[in-house]
Amino acid sequence: MKTIQFSHRIEQVGPSQTLAITHKAKKMKQEGHDVISFGAGEPDLDTPEFIKNAAIDALKKGMTKYSPTSGLPDFKKAIIEKFEKDNGLKYSSDEIIVSNGAKHSLFNAFQVLLNEGDQVLIPSPYWLSYPEMVRLSGGEPVFIETNESDRFKIKPKDLENKISSRAKVLVINSPSNPTGVIYDRSELEEISRIAVKHGLFVISDEIYEKLIYDGKKHVSIASLNTEIKNVTLTVNGMSKAYSMTGWRLGYLAGPREIVEKMDNFQSHATSNPNTFAQYGAVEALLKGGEEIAKMRDVFETRRNLMARELDKISKCSYVCPDGAFYFFVNISKTGMDGARFAEKLLEKQVVAVVPGDVFGSARHIRLSFATSEQNIMKGISRIADFLK
Ligand code: PMP
Ligand code: GLU
Repeated sequence: MKTIQFSHRIEQVGPSQTLAITHKAKKMKQEGHDVISFGAGEPDLDTPEFIKNAAIDALKKGMTKYSPTSGLPDFKKAIIEKFEKDNGLKYSSDEIIVSNGAKHSLFNAFQVLLNEGDQVLIPSPYWLSYPEMVRLSGGEPVFIETNESDRFKIKPKDLENKISSRAKVLVINSPSNPTGVIYDRSELEEISRIAVKHGLFVISDEIYEKLIYDGKKHVSIASLNTEIKNVTLTVNGMSKAYSMTGWRLGYLAGPREIVEKMDNFQSHATSNPNTFAQYGAVEALLKGGEEIAKMRDVFETRRNLMARELDKISKCSYVCPDGAFYFFVNISKTGMDGARFAEKLLEKQVVAVVPGDVFGSARHIRLSFATSEQNIMKGISRIADFLK
């Protein structure tokens, strides 16, 4: 067969390893293996019933047609209320766009902002799709390294040192995937001063906003002042807080001119996200407070349990996550790198974890605690056995 000449864009990227590992673990389970998966970046709990019912009602009422590309007016209204209530942010309808998941919102934002060679500053460890989306959009990812002793957070001087004349966008992800750490108000104030001073756009990925523990509070960088709001794109979505990963609904708020370009782009690429799913999401945003709080409590209990179990393994150390549902575990004392650790652990103990190198650190593995307490006990004890 003739060799296919693929686009340079696609030659730069492979498949998403978080998704690949999650699917592999699910498949092994279906085949009858007693697999414990700490791979999944998705809540194991089901979507609450009242959300499903709202989508079913919409479907039955014939809400089966295109909606406006940038989202149903009712959904946008609920998003505007959410931003105002939860984040102290005021947006109008033309400053909001709904997409097929937060991943899609992020991708579209990079597509409309980046030209060949534009740099995007990404704190490392990072969620694995940011650099790939940047590359697919013609940009160049520039990583800002962090240390465990700083709780994996960027230092203002390290950020400034990385800003070149080609720097255009800074990505902030709080709470972070894979480390779970959050930036507090004063840290965000320093970052925002630097971003404004150097004319950077900020993409603030706040998808784990509702999963924060120990009574800590989420701060949206755009809410700090008008100057930073004018250059920030705030991204959020339904996947994590409402257990709606498969519904594929995310949204973004930001300057009108940028949102308008994203709308143009999306109108040719995908059109609107699923119409009846959006009706379910309206209900989730308007009435989901109690359910969210319950799910958050479940995750906090699991986080505490996973921490206690990991503490029993001397070769593993971690920075305790403030939010999200991941432990980024340093396994360098085992003498293995993350990839080898993950491969051998799956082979010998049928436990799936994500190697840290896909997030920018070969000395770590990522464990998701979006799984039952029983699985957490069993899985960590298998890791202990593996290291004996
Ligand atoms: N951002 C981060 C940090 C994530 O972990 C995820 C998880 N998939 C996403 C964005 C995208 O979420 P979704 O597309 O399901 O809304
Ligand atoms: N974000 C989740 C994770 O990091 C889901 C998979 C993905 O979209 O990458 O595992």
